[in-house]
Amino acid sequence: MAQPLIQLEHVTKRFGDLTVLDDLNFEVGAGEKLALIGPSGSGKTTILRILMTLDDLSGGHILVDGEQLFHMPRGETLVPADEKHLHRMRAKIGMVFQHFNLFPHKCVLDNVTLAPILTQGVTPDAANKRAMELLDMVGMAEKATAMPSQLSGGQKQRVAIARALALQPKIMLFDEVTSALDPELVEEVLAVMHLLARETDMTMLLVTHEMSFAHDFADRILFFDRGKIVESGPPSEIFVNPQEERTKAFLKKVV
Ligand code: ADP
Repeated sequence: MAQPLIQLEHVTKRFGDLTVLDDLNFEVGAGEKLALIGPSGSGKTTILRILMTLDDLSGGHILVDGEQLFHMPRGETLVPADEKHLHRMRAKIGMVFQHFNLFPHKCVLDNVTLAPILTQGVTPDAANKRAMELLDMVGMAEKATAMPSQLSGGQKQRVAIARALALQPKIMLFDEVTSALDPELVEEVLAVMHLLARETDMTMLLVTHEMSFAHDFADRILFFDRGKIVESGPPSEIFVNPQEERTKAFLKKVV
């Protein structure tokens, strides 16, 4: 594997008595496209939320780009990260959610430029220029002045992808980005993600129930069940010749 960009070491997450992630260990290489698949409730979304620091850890460590995500060095020891550290680490990661979460009272262009201007000190001119390039890439340049309420779900999701890219993250996380869409709108969003995967060297982690998309998109598949990785490997192995009974049973049900 290329230099690991993300490293999970003994990651555990509990909500009350429920162990959602159970001593997880895996790495994601720089530029790697990884798909997380598995039954509902197996902990896939929780991993993405933790990487975005929307949830904390119950145990273990995560390194992003060689640096601790939830801890920072103080002298010889590690202490819990402060807001400044978290802010700097979060800038490395962008996330696209199932429910687009666009700002409803801002036009498409402002949705894409707002965060770079407010959080990264980018000038409005530079932010607009970059936003128009990104909107062009996702096929939404013509809708730059439209309001989110005037867009279809697929269009909203493409704007949400452009918005996340505007912050120039090294890592993009995609959480079930097509599952709230009508079937006829799924393809246009998947096409944008294929384009991103092909044309950028960004590291991408994706939670999906679209098995054919995971197959075509990912370099590696992780199959989760009950907070553990049951099986991992290239799509050609996991989908064609799964080794574990739980993987076989899952794929039989969904494919
Ligand atoms: P998946 O993405 O694989 O469907 P999730 O990561 O969303 O699974 O959820 C894993 C488990 O954690 C589920 O049982 C879910 O109910 C539980 N869970 C997720 N978030 C919370 C929370 N904030 N409080 C309590 N339980 C949660």
